[in-house]
Amino acid sequence: MSQTNYSVETKCIQEGYKPSNGEARVLPIYQSTTFKYDSSAQMGRLFDLEEDGYFYTRLQNPTNDAVAAKICSLEGGVGAMLTSSGQAANFYAVFNICEAGSHIVCSSALYGGTFNLFGTTLKKLGIEATFVDPDAPLEELQKAVQENTRCVFAETIANPALTILDIEKFAKLAHDNGVPLIVDNTFATPINCRPFEWGADIVTHSTTKYMDGHATSVGGCIVDSGNFDWKAYPDKFKGLTEPDESYHGIIYTEKFGKLGYITKLTSQLMRDLGAIPSPHNSFLLNLGLETLHLRVPRHCENALTVAKYLENNPKVAWVNYAGLEGNKYYHLAQKYMPNGTCGVISFGLKGDRATAERFMDRLKLAAIVTHVADARTCVLHPASHTHRQMTEEQLIEAGVQPDLIRLSVGIENVNDIIADLEQAMEE
Ligand SMILES: *Cc1c(COP(=O)(O)O)cnc(C)c1O
Repeated sequence: MSQTNYSVETKCIQEGYKPSNGEARVLPIYQSTTFKYDSSAQMGRLFDLEEDGYFYTRLQNPTNDAVAAKICSLEGGVGAMLTSSGQAANFYAVFNICEAGSHIVCSSALYGGTFNLFGTTLKKLGIEATFVDPDAPLEELQKAVQENTRCVFAETIANPALTILDIEKFAKLAHDNGVPLIVDNTFATPINCRPFEWGADIVTHSTTKYMDGHATSVGGCIVDSGNFDWKAYPDKFKGLTEPDESYHGIIYTEKFGKLGYITKLTSQLMRDLGAIPSPHNSFLLNLGLETLHLRVPRHCENALTVAKYLENNPKVAWVNYAGLEGNKYYHLAQKYMPNGTCGVISFGLKGDRATAERFMDRLKLAAIVTHVADARTCVLHPASHTHRQMTEEQLIEAGVQPDLIRLSVGIENVNDIIADLEQAMEE
């Protein structure tokens, strides 16, 4: 994918769709399942991956591709693919290099959906996961790696634990063992952190969150840095380094070089599993991306103000926000995302579970929704909502205290957000 040297703010607006003379200025929605050709021979070449071109939207669509190219450029990758959800992105990113008998090492501080995907569903496919404490020293983490380990996976800012990943430590763990580091960069976004600059090999996103930013479209994205040398470990990544019988014996790393991983994703996994976004959703995602560089700093500024307010409130038992100086992750956050972390804060109120529920029910501006990271302030109690299938033990391991309230600070006027919290905490 062609890229410019523009700064990230300019890329949000200018990258991706590049109209030619006389074409629509704004990214068109190619709401078409299929594409027309004059010769049957040309269609055949497209199927053989001998020629570039669109033929069926499950494999490629111009609207989807333009938005993928924009995200690719924001992250500084060589190739990217959109998926219909963040879940699909994380599944594909791992499954593209794993099969029955493989093993993955993942941080235990994970989004609940990813925890279920890796811990339960992948297991049914014969892929085992070992969950590790992301704060453990390298020597300790190394013990989780096995002969059949095929990747290391973690979130830059874990949802909802809000732990900050030591990306360099995890990249070293992965590379010492000849496997790639896959990082879910949903919460930080490429505005605040670009994991490739710290050694990550593949980045995933739930674009549903800040990227869309308006809570209109569920979506995901996978970006490849092109840096991992699959050919150096031919016994581990046979799907990339040996002929794909379902594609006339194509060898992805031979034919596509640095684009081997992404090409296998689009031409094999997307062909067979099909979790594509609708072009209309990609159009909406693109609108969100155009203002990502304006919204993310405002989310962070508001969240820091709210976190400081909560920290000084006697009714609040604890506050977790890596932007606060006393936070355990403050220094990692300063290193990897000096301009800010995200708009999500977690905290606990003094009292019991009922105190938390009463507080949430009394909020007027902040809505109770199963969502985070959009323009509107919202709130959720993970132990009773997103993470309710976890045992108390698993909750603690994932960094989710049972009294934890997850507050996603929006981009309203911060005084109105604080006034709402204040009135909801009144006796
Ligand atoms: C929401 C989320 C996901 C899942 O994404 P969906 O778009 O809801 O499928 C994955 N990872 C993180 C960090 C998330 O916040």
